[in-house]
Amino acid sequence: MISLPKFSPEYYQKSLNILETSLKTLDAYRSWRAFDPGDSLSIDERYAALPTLTKNDIRQHFPKGLVPADKDVDAGLASGEITFANTSGSSDAFRVTNIWNQQWWDASERASWTYNAHAQKVTTGDHPEAILVNALNVGIASNEVDLPIEKRRLARFLYLNEKTDPTKWTPALMDRMIAELDIFKPVVLEANPSFLAKLCRYIWTQKKKVYQPGLITLTYEFPSRLHFQQIKRVFTSPIASSYGSTETGYVFMQCESGKFHQNVDFCRVDFQFLRPEHGGPNVGKILVTTFDNPWYYMLRFDVGDFARLDPEQKCSCGRESGFIVSAMEGRWTNVTLTCDGKLVTLRRVDDAITALENIDEYRVEQPSPGVYHLFLVSPRQDKEKLSQEAKRILQGIYGAKADITITYADYLSPEDSGKYCLAKTLFPLNIANYLDIK
Ligand SMILES: [Zn+2]
Repeated sequence: MISLPKFSPEYYQKSLNILETSLKTLDAYRSWRAFDPGDSLSIDERYAALPTLTKNDIRQHFPKGLVPADKDVDAGLASGEITFANTSGSSDAFRVTNIWNQQWWDASERASWTYNAHAQKVTTGDHPEAILVNALNVGIASNEVDLPIEKRRLARFLYLNEKTDPTKWTPALMDRMIAELDIFKPVVLEANPSFLAKLCRYIWTQKKKVYQPGLITLTYEFPSRLHFQQIKRVFTSPIASSYGSTETGYVFMQCESGKFHQNVDFCRVDFQFLRPEHGGPNVGKILVTTFDNPWYYMLRFDVGDFARLDPEQKCSCGRESGFIVSAMEGRWTNVTLTCDGKLVTLRRVDDAITALENIDEYRVEQPSPGVYHLFLVSPRQDKEKLSQEAKRILQGIYGAKADITITYADYLSPEDSGKYCLAKTLFPLNIANYLDIK
């Protein structure tokens, strides 16, 4: 049983306010009223009784069903206080439009920095920041033509990449990124871990020198141990994972001791835990309720990821204001199943596979129960030995009867979402069947 952190009275007041305003006045939550047991129960119990908000719900009720009555969306758009932000991707499953309130976003980000000593030391709010992400998700995309640096500058940011598929990066383009880091001298380098890892493999094999920013933050994707190792070979900068989403702002920040702390002034977090036989009771789906965004009410938004709660809710950094997560466990679309049907989170696969020596990239696909396909990119010459090692590792996770095929590739491409996928089943899987919910 997890010992709950001590939340402040203000946290509960904010939780109550957004719960009541949402249920009483917003169309998106109208059907939720029937689930609310009412104020005879505690706030936590009331939240636990409610459904969850999905991207489909947002699409269905956008924008007015998610905005309180005292706010006029058209006026907000006209004044520039809000804009509509699309989470892009090349298929509809990833496309959602959200209300973007820059002021709230910036405040949420600034608050997240207080949970990491390095971030606290180097960030000012107007510090130069380089961003290395998929142009499909953030920044300006240009696949055919390379954009000059001035076309990739925006306020204090420099977008190092304008391509939507990093497998198309040429050595010249990566040299440009390295040169621009040296010219721009970012205080913070924010990156998709897979993208930065790719650049780092190039820096490592070509024995290049690279500018060391004050802090590297990894975001947008699951931070694989493999990516982390590859980044650490060429960067001595401190590295922190930042966890959030377009819908929710900054939710968890990794501190200098390595655990994740809840950005408690800007969000409430609830969990739906996995059943014990599937990895519970400490691993759960993250549900986020945003605080103090006057334009956009997210209540129990299902971000789509699992987190592992620290069983003691303690961290050596001494911070104790909200939930403490010992590891991110990956998206629920990236779970796989053992031969006897037990759920395996991406974190478990990642921890095991990254024990293999000298691999650049991997992906596990499960086409049907008991059958696994591992794709590997590795400069190793002894592929037969590597295959044996990989097979043993996968059998350790999935079971001795696992039917395993290994394929070597020159490179792996990101998914339609613009992000890399490290593991998935190729058959539909209803995650609710694995959760410990009534
Ligand atoms: Zn800590």
